Amino acid sequence: MVNILEFIIRSKALYTTWIYYKPNRLLFDVGEGISAALGNKIYSIEKLFITHSHVDHIAGLWGFINTRNNAMGSREKDLEIYYPKGSKNIEDYLNFIKKMNKYLRFKLYIKEVEHGDIIPLKNNRCLKIFKTRHTPGEKSIGFQIIEKRKRLKPEYRNFSGKEIKEIILENGKDEVLEEYEKKIITISGDSLPISPDIIEDSDTLVHECTFIKESDRKLRNHTSLDEIKKLLTYISPKRVILYHISSRYNRLINKAEKELTESFKNIEFHIVHPEEISII
Ligand SMILES: [Zn+2]
Ligand SMILES: [Zn+2]
Repeated sequence: MVNILEFIIRSKALYTTWIYYKPNRLLFDVGEGISAALGNKIYSIEKLFITHSHVDHIAGLWGFINTRNNAMGSREKDLEIYYPKGSKNIEDYLNFIKKMNKYLRFKLYIKEVEHGDIIPLKNNRCLKIFKTRHTPGEKSIGFQIIEKRKRLKPEYRNFSGKEIKEIILENGKDEVLEEYEKKIITISGDSLPISPDIIEDSDTLVHECTFIKESDRKLRNHTSLDEIKKLLTYISPKRVILYHISSRYNRLINKAEKELTESFKNIEFHIVHPEEISII
């Protein structure tokens, strides 16, 4: 079986986080080390979505812009950056970066977004913004990729293939097909657990899990593994990717992954190791 690369993820709480999603050429957050790690792949990124202004999520942006402008590659490719509306820190940082790179070879589009906004993507997909609960006073958002698909209208679901073909020949496809929205991926960003209503029916959940041990958590601004387990009693994604893990748990990653796989047999789990680049 050929494995198709979807994600390249680097994430270590407090140090760096970035998620590259290849099918739609998207980048979620831009922590330090990204340009050196991705190399020429940085030119393939078309849209960058920033969850919030904490430095472990944005420190790589200056280098990312500079490298795209100067390294060997498609330096003329446009880049769009989306960030949470009203995030003054990100605005100041973007202005600084623009000042330091006065002569950009590519077009840079910068746009603030908020809860409920929808950004069109290629391949019949779009991206929906939802607000998250992280640090007080910090604007933070999560992202959901949605695909428009078609299925048989309920009234035709008991018809045979032959009957359906005849109806299509006579009245066209739209007579039997309806459009619906399929949630493909939900990405939490730094946050307390995302509401099951938002995640429900999402194929893949990419959720932060800073704390493997609940007792280590002092403030309520990140998610613990116990909370993830609780969340998974309400929803059942096909695949769960946990990231933003604290490096104090380096030795517990394999054990935690094994336990999750045993407890939730229908779900495929990946825990992004704080010291490694995960290719999924
Ligand atoms: Zn963080
Ligand atoms: Zn944060």
